[in-house]
Amino acid sequence: MIAAVRGTHDILPGEVEKWQTVERVAHTLCERYGYVEVRTPVLEREELFAKGTGETTDIVQKEMYSFTDKGGERVTLRPEATPSMVRAYVEHSLEHALPSSKLYSMGPMFRYERPQKGRYRQFHQLDVEVFGMNDPAVDAEVIDLAWSLLAELRIARTELVINSVGHAECRPRFQAALLEALGQDVKKLCQDCQRRAVTNPLRIYDCKVPADQPIIDALPHSVDYLCDACATHFAAVRAHLDAWGIPWRLSHRLVRGLDYYTRTTFEILGEALGAQNALLGGGRYDGLVKNLGGPDRTGIGFAAGLERLVLALPEGATGAPMARAFVAVVGDEARTEGLRLLRELRQAGMAASMEFEGRSIKAQMKRADRLGSRATLIVGADELAKGEVTLRDMRGSEQRAVPRADAVRLTRAILEGQ
Ligand code: AMP
Repeated sequence: MIAAVRGTHDILPGEVEKWQTVERVAHTLCERYGYVEVRTPVLEREELFAKGTGETTDIVQKEMYSFTDKGGERVTLRPEATPSMVRAYVEHSLEHALPSSKLYSMGPMFRYERPQKGRYRQFHQLDVEVFGMNDPAVDAEVIDLAWSLLAELRIARTELVINSVGHAECRPRFQAALLEALGQDVKKLCQDCQRRAVTNPLRIYDCKVPADQPIIDALPHSVDYLCDACATHFAAVRAHLDAWGIPWRLSHRLVRGLDYYTRTTFEILGEALGAQNALLGGGRYDGLVKNLGGPDRTGIGFAAGLERLVLALPEGATGAPMARAFVAVVGDEARTEGLRLLRELRQAGMAASMEFEGRSIKAQMKRADRLGSRATLIVGADELAKGEVTLRDMRGSEQRAVPRADAVRLTRAILEGQ
């Protein structure tokens, strides 16, 4: 037996219904908030992420599935969607082609991480992006969409954490203060943090190593170093959230793992998930579009992990499966009529099955039961001769002979529970 690749998984019946629920709610909500769907390829040029996600990030340094294809080109299985969405936005001039630059996408991402509950090597994200809109109300609206998605999925006990990391002008001041406060203590931090202090000091706030925590907790807070414009923007975001009654907590530690964030960053944490407790995360990335060769347009968005939404889904979140009909036949002649009936039911929009293997009526009825059929139509020589069908309501186990011409209509009445 050849097993699935470590960190990837099959989504089987029983589980797949939850995925369908999450995907359906995500599509509906994005549409309600004015977003349009874009589907980008899983395979992209490696340089897109080196430039977009950032050379110094863990993703680019350690986690990418990159290889040289047969034409000698360096390609990567996308580790996140934002650089692809920016690429598509720029490549197709979506700014002009679409009435509004509010885009969303759903699909698989790939990161070579250490697999554990809620963390996989192939996982799926809902990705939401807004380009060229600077008003703090947009930040709040994006956060509201994320918050409402969880509410709509009835995922309870969630917490919204927010922060502002400033932008190109005030961020260097914060970074300098951070390095100064760290001083000689940098040598007491873990190896990763020592590397971060050189390549990307803000990432030190992401560190989870217990021994490092007292040092990190004493470091400066980005909100204390914001320029006036960034401080005003962040105050307005919080005011909008308050006006909508969305509770938030300020977290100085929330700088997030990617290079491109500016100003607002946010995450929503879920209780049910254990160590991998981030259901979704995002923020503003005002320099990214330009950095990737596009016009000077701001951006803001978030990515939600679909596996984690599915894990956090409450019991009974998926609706009842579609009611089914089953066609049982006795004898070869009846079989032809049964097949005709089967197709008529399906053409009329009903879910219907039939046993093709020519087994006994008893075996066929068992199969109907196993499939959870709500109605069974039985056709034998008798029924054929009289132009009838025996229609059985599987819940009450009542059955009656009905005219063949009425069979489809009466089956529908049973499936619809009338
Ligand atoms: P990120 O793209 O790292 O900001 O992550 C956004 C969201 O994607 C997280 O909050 C998780 O819900 C999800 N996520 C990220 N990495 C993984 C992974 N390896 N496995 C499953 N979900 C993930």
